[in-house]
Amino acid sequence: MLQINMKLHQQVIDDLCPGETVRVNHTDCPSGEDTRRRLYLTRQHGEASKVLGYCHNCSNSGVMSKGYEAFRDQLHTKKSASTQVSSKVVPPSYLITKLSDFTIHGRSWAITNKVTQAMLDDYRIAMTGEGKVYIPRYDEQGFFTGYQLRNVTPNTREPKYTTILSDRDRGYSFVHSNVNHPASNFVITEDTLSAIHVVEAFKKQGRTNVAALANHGVRTNIQLLELCIGYSTVVWLDNDSPSVINAADKMARTLQLMSDGAVDVVDKQYSDPKHYQPRKILDILEETCNG
Ligand SMILES: [Zn+2]
Repeated sequence: MLQINMKLHQQVIDDLCPGETVRVNHTDCPSGEDTRRRLYLTRQHGEASKVLGYCHNCSNSGVMSKGYEAFRDQLHTKKSASTQVSSKVVPPSYLITKLSDFTIHGRSWAITNKVTQAMLDDYRIAMTGEGKVYIPRYDEQGFFTGYQLRNVTPNTREPKYTTILSDRDRGYSFVHSNVNHPASNFVITEDTLSAIHVVEAFKKQGRTNVAALANHGVRTNIQLLELCIGYSTVVWLDNDSPSVINAADKMARTLQLMSDGAVDVVDKQYSDPKHYQPRKILDILEETCNG
């Protein structure tokens, strides 16, 4: 049995809360290149100084106990997410819009998430003066409804995610490459980046008839589903746990009751769209609708 080199995943490990599991690609996996995030990293609930790794590709495991002091130090001052809602929300006054001006952690975030300068421009993603990634939210009419800040700097006392919403936000974001051309197909994703990657994949084919709806989580949102009534719709969540797989099925069943359009769910072997290249996104969607 080989030991997994946990140090290569130090940044992810530092961010893990007790009981939390994340999936990453196993760097240098001895069973071949892992592009399906088959390495599971879990911080133990009872013994929070210990992070266990297990790769479902090579079946090797690893353990990491070092570096926990810094984590414990911030544990009581930092929550992993915070949300604020108010009647009027405007974007931060100072935003860095050029990828080359992002901090090193910001650029690393962009590479990991396959975010390009063109995508920053088209979807108004930026970096704040505090070095956080800014991702705005828009509704189906193109109105700004709030934003999320992603803390990409390791070892800070700030939460990982901060969400600032106006009271007109209805819990989803609408992503479309051409608002003048009404969409006839919808893809429901968990997060904005996945929605953007779906729309971009179709845009590369010259197709602007597909819109994606970021559900911001896995709970069924009736107001989001209402937008899909009568249209061909695919539900594509991360499928990284049985509860998410159930949530996707529930969303699809609910929409089927409301709609006479076709409703399909992406096979549970696939994680969410942001982990795939454009060609693969299109292949998965075709397989989903014709399979
Ligand atoms: Zn492996």
